[in-house]
Amino acid sequence: MSNHVIEVRSILLPSKGHLFIGCNLMIVIAMTTAEMWLRSTSLYHKQAVVVCGFAVSYLMYFVLEPFVDGAQMTLMMPIMISLVYFDQRLLNALGAFSLLFYAAIYLGLEQRLLDKPLLEFLMVECVFIVFVVMAQAVIIRAREVREHLEQLTKSEQELMVERAISDKLLKIDALTGLYNHKTFHEYLVSLLEQCESNGLRLQLALFDIDNFKRVNDTYGHWVGDLVLKEVAAKVGGLIGLNDFAARYGGEEFAVIFTDKSIHEAYAAAEELRLKIAAMEHPYAGGKPITVSIGLCDYQLGDGKEKLFRKTDHALYAAKHSGKNAVVTASAAHDDDNILSYA
Ligand code: GH3
Ligand code: MG
Ligand code: MG
Repeated sequence: MSNHVIEVRSILLPSKGHLFIGCNLMIVIAMTTAEMWLRSTSLYHKQAVVVCGFAVSYLMYFVLEPFVDGAQMTLMMPIMISLVYFDQRLLNALGAFSLLFYAAIYLGLEQRLLDKPLLEFLMVECVFIVFVVMAQAVIIRAREVREHLEQLTKSEQELMVERAISDKLLKIDALTGLYNHKTFHEYLVSLLEQCESNGLRLQLALFDIDNFKRVNDTYGHWVGDLVLKEVAAKVGGLIGLNDFAARYGGEEFAVIFTDKSIHEAYAAAEELRLKIAAMEHPYAGGKPITVSIGLCDYQLGDGKEKLFRKTDHALYAAKHSGKNAVVTASAAHDDDNILSYA
């Protein structure tokens, strides 16, 4: 039997076992330090990972090199970090640095201590270059995909904004900013369904500005528009969260009160009437602008037409009572009997 002695040629000579242990220990220290850094601060994360990656890969190389063929491949780890961040500049910098650093290791250690052939050095450097080129392609493709996704999200957002704007334009009256006639009817229909099925309480109030034609005739149409805007803003600003205000027609507004008793709705309408009358309009001769209001409590089974008829009659009664008044259509009486609270 012959004894074969296998010579292990290594930078970390087996006789220097403490260096081997030292290398492993330094890997653990490098990784723990990086982990602690990442957990304790939000600064320089990328730099910490790059430095740790470099340290660990070169230390691993020195640990593996005596036992594993092609241990140089561990030196590619820092280049891979740039892939994690999809950072092309980092990739170029790490690629160039790795090429130079490995050249230094080869010339300084591998060639002198291990007699490694130049061809092996060139092969490793070529693998580095190929890997950098491939990583470039991955990063460029990832950037294209990201840009495409951003574009998609952006156009989707733009579409949503456009839809919201056109939706608003369709629903809102341009002059007053209140809901328009069409939206008012749609909303009323769905609320009346709620009344019939769930017993929701609802009152309809129709507001008509008193002697508005005179405002137009005396101060001009544009002053009339200003008054309309201001009265509408007052109505919109004073109604509750559960109420709904719309410009019903020229100088008429409609308010739907929900979740209120008729007395609460009456009080709300009366407050609106008083606050509108108290508004100042210096450009319209400083005279108060008043409104007449017809109010009707919805009775189950009445339907939209009857509700409107009753409310309209109440408004008519308010006008005939001398204007600047709230008149309620009595629930106890039929359409033609109007009970005035004012
Ligand atoms: P009453 O107290 O009986 O309601 O009298 P009134 O003058 O308010 O009612 P009338 O129906 O005679 O006149 C309403 C006026 O409202 C006529 C119309 O020119 C005016 N009007 C309607 N829409 C607009 C608008 O958008 N802007 C302006 N400036 N005026 C409008
Ligand atoms: Mg009118
Ligand atoms: Mg009027």
